[in-house]
Amino acid sequence: MDPVPFENELTFETHRQNDTVEEFHQSYEDAVTDVRATLGKSHPLWIDGGPVDADEQFTVTSPGDFDVTIGEFAVGTPDDVDRAVRAAAAAFDEWRQTAVEERVEIFRDAVEEFRERKFELAATVSLENGKNRTEAVADVDEAIDFLRFYSRELERHDGYEFDTGEPTPGQHCRNLLRPYGVFGVIAPFNFPIAILAGMTTGAVITGNTAVVKPASATPLIAHKFVEILTDAGLPDGVINLVTGGGSTVGQPLVEHEDVAGIVFTGSREVGLSIERTFQDLGKRGPVIAELGGKNSVIVTTAADIQKAVSGVAMGAFSFSGQKCSATSRVYVHEDVFDQFLSRLVEKTESLGIGPAEAEETVVSPVIDDRALERYADICEQAAAEGTIHTGGDVVDASDLPDGRYVEPTVVSDVPHDHALAREEHFLPFVTVHPVTDLAEAIDKANDSDYGLCAGLFSEDESEIETWFDRIDSGMCYVNRAQSATTGALVQAQPFGGWKFSGTTGKFAGGYWYLPQFMREQSRTHVRDARE
Ligand code: NAP
Ligand code: MG
Repeated sequence: MDPVPFENELTFETHRQNDTVEEFHQSYEDAVTDVRATLGKSHPLWIDGGPVDADEQFTVTSPGDFDVTIGEFAVGTPDDVDRAVRAAAAAFDEWRQTAVEERVEIFRDAVEEFRERKFELAATVSLENGKNRTEAVADVDEAIDFLRFYSRELERHDGYEFDTGEPTPGQHCRNLLRPYGVFGVIAPFNFPIAILAGMTTGAVITGNTAVVKPASATPLIAHKFVEILTDAGLPDGVINLVTGGGSTVGQPLVEHEDVAGIVFTGSREVGLSIERTFQDLGKRGPVIAELGGKNSVIVTTAADIQKAVSGVAMGAFSFSGQKCSATSRVYVHEDVFDQFLSRLVEKTESLGIGPAEAEETVVSPVIDDRALERYADICEQAAAEGTIHTGGDVVDASDLPDGRYVEPTVVSDVPHDHALAREEHFLPFVTVHPVTDLAEAIDKANDSDYGLCAGLFSEDESEIETWFDRIDSGMCYVNRAQSATTGALVQAQPFGGWKFSGTTGKFAGGYWYLPQFMREQSRTHVRDARE
């Protein structure tokens, strides 16, 4: 494997390096104003290259301001799913025979459009799912990276087809990877453009066709994605968009007999139920699923505490901890425990809580009422069974719009095996635990069903090596002050999970991602030299 370098789309960083940060903020703020003026429309399904109206619609409002209606969206039904799958199945044969260069060109044209519309797309993400400014732009950047990286990899491998020679005289052999057929793409709310675009691109650029079901909270950005690909020249039926609920759209999509494979990112519960459905129905295609996390960070006596505090605060609380990669439990050596905890509390209390669009916001609103209920529930448990050092309440501030704002919460004195420290909450909530040495910390970090991301803060080379060797985790970061566990970049930091954090052990944005969407074929053609 020869990892050719890849240049990531790093919008904020580029502006910072060019000393044009003000321009960055202005572009984003202008886009927020423009996007606001376009909200509230009605959006049909998109099947076989055209709109399809539904009998019912659901309303999406902004999590940061209930007065802002994002739009009305079609409630898809099992019949709509069937229609979309049939359209995708009908488009498959021609699409898989479309030359690799032609497929890649469509995605590259889409990249140009993504870049043109970058701030508009980021503003849409902020308003629709409440993702704070720089993170929303990074979500769009990552989508661009996925399109570019997968295009490049498909091209670099000649569509994964090569000559395997003439093992005996006259036997001419080729080996290739071929698409399966129709993929169901089921996406989460939290990276509503990056993950949706990455999964769909993986499925489609390799020659499959797709029926896409976005999270119910984030259908607008999914419409914009499909619009961009349609404008870039993707043929009718190659991507179909069916909005609606998990049980009325997602489940029928998984069960549909003409759906060959599923690519899913979301909770462990739903991901595993998709795998079970495939097994129960005797379906043989792949279920490529990225699931939850319970990401640990270890802080040793050799840590730079400043870096550790910053990394944990950003990893746990940016976008209100609504990332599969969010830092959620921290094991700190007892000798530095009090110092770390008090500085983490101080740092946490300095973080801006507010609307996603505001420049100073780090802790943006949480997605829905169930998230608010979960927050109240875990904070009540933490108060009763542990110690809350800061946070624990919804934010009561008259200067905030009517939205779902909660305080970032730091908790200690709950045992390592307590549900609060084992289960994924997907909220701005972190537990901190004292340990006596690195071995204990690693054992506890590994004592989890999940294995997505992990962080270490230590300036000691031998501790770092020990940790890299022993930590059971897909992504492993040492001394990452920008964020202890979040913020992976396409190509350099492929993203995926071990154990119950994923089903395939192959990572998004990495070199082994695309082949998962295809199956191998050996072709032998016997030709005499005389013929
Ligand atoms: P979720 O509740 O599991 O939903 C994910 C998607 O599945 C949504 O589109 C949802 O539709 C759909 N769905 C729900 N029930 C279904 C069913 N029975 N059959 C088929 N589809 C169904 O996850 P989420 O709340 O959107 O996102 C948070 C979760 O995603 C967390 O657990 C997080 O760790 C995980 N995640 C993992 C990664 C990773 O790369 N490992 C990345 C991001 C997020 P509705 O929205 O209509 O319910
Ligand atoms: Mg959900």
